[in-house]
Amino acid sequence: MTDLLIVGGGIMGLWAAVMAQRAGIETTLVERAAIGAGASGGILGALMPHMPDNWNEKKQFQFDALVSLEAEIAMLEAETGLSAGYRRSGRIIPLSKPHLRGIALKHQQEALENWTSADRSFFWHVREAPQYAGWPDHAAAESGVVFDTLAARLAPRSLLDMLVSVLRNAPRTHVREGTHVLRLDPLAGKAELAGGEMIAFKTCILAAGVQSFPLIDALHGGAFKASGTAVKGQAALLKADVDPSWPVIFSDGLYIVPHENGCVAVGSTSENSFEDPLTCDARLDHLIQRAVEVAPMLREAKILERWAGLRPKAIGREPMIGRHPDFPHLMTMTGGFKVSFGLAQRIAAFVVSEITGDNRIDLPGSFRCESHIALMLGT
Ligand SMILES: Cc1cc2nc3c(=O)[nH]c(=O)nc-3n(C[C@H](O)[C@H](O)[C@H](O)COP(=O)(O)OP(=O)(O)OC[C@H]3O[C@@H](n4cnc5c(N)ncnc54)[C@H](O)[C@@H]3O)c2cc1C
Repeated sequence: MTDLLIVGGGIMGLWAAVMAQRAGIETTLVERAAIGAGASGGILGALMPHMPDNWNEKKQFQFDALVSLEAEIAMLEAETGLSAGYRRSGRIIPLSKPHLRGIALKHQQEALENWTSADRSFFWHVREAPQYAGWPDHAAAESGVVFDTLAARLAPRSLLDMLVSVLRNAPRTHVREGTHVLRLDPLAGKAELAGGEMIAFKTCILAAGVQSFPLIDALHGGAFKASGTAVKGQAALLKADVDPSWPVIFSDGLYIVPHENGCVAVGSTSENSFEDPLTCDARLDHLIQRAVEVAPMLREAKILERWAGLRPKAIGREPMIGRHPDFPHLMTMTGGFKVSFGLAQRIAAFVVSEITGDNRIDLPGSFRCESHIALMLGT
């Protein structure tokens, strides 16, 4: 019997295990292949805030998560001596048309009201030109640029390595790679692993990325709408002489993310239908071409890696978090879609504090597992 079974060794499962370890909960984490084998083992690592307008509880949750992540990572870096490749380098958004400048100026005001925590404020500056010539190219930014000071980036694989290193030294945490959960029986508190082994648990956190959805659907006999789907994404890592402190460029869905060691990540495609989930194709070539148009200094950059993965998108389009309404011993942590890296730490803190019963974090209603299950069942 384990007190807590975590299914999945991606960013969601690992943060859950770290929070559980801090709370003194005896935990077993089961990962089908290896840590980071799913979407979390990618290369982009952009931590992008929502727009500062139409403020709501979802935007506030994400803001709090993005602000608190910096200190969390600094603490773990000090504890482990490892680096997560984190930097609050900000984001630059080229404004290609005059009307976009008008909208951006409105956001500048809204950020002053909404992007403020107890001890820090973040800004949405509208400027005539980028602070670094060519980043982005003037042709892409004829009406100026936005520079926001809230956005950040990290190196996904370095962060996973750091979280795993915390867990490997934790006395009450067992990480088991290379075996997977075939079936969950949350009423009996049992999980069946490949090969027939049964694990009994008091609580299970299902954090298996896109594979969470069939496991949830199976609990309902599969007779309803699917609880979520997979959206494929492709990204590339380039070797380029770009200062790692420069901001992330965001332009019409395209991200250009300067990392440490002369690496720049470019992403991502968003594909609802695909034949092969893990191969890269001409869509990625097109994206790299767009990146070169926005930042011509990338023209000669060598491509170090092309990578594809599947993002978990829950039926309600928001993360699917917390206690399952019909199975109180089952908690879900999936559906982070395009923003898991910015949210996972705070989501994990919420889920683990639900288990220990000392929760002080408000979760947006649309994130709650029960909202997604209601959509799934049509209730
Ligand atoms: C190209 C691309 C770019 C992206 N860029 C960003 C970005 O810049 N910023 C951002 O925040 N997000 C980004 N994302 C999204 C982000 O990567 C995902 O939302 C996130 O990784 C999901 O994490 P997860 O832990 O829920 O799932 P995963 O990382 O997929 O982890 C689930 C794990 O569970 C394991 N597993 C599956 N089934 C079982 C089972 N039955 N038993 C045991 N283990 C199982 C899998 O092997 C896997 O390791 C991007 C995604 C893609 C594809």
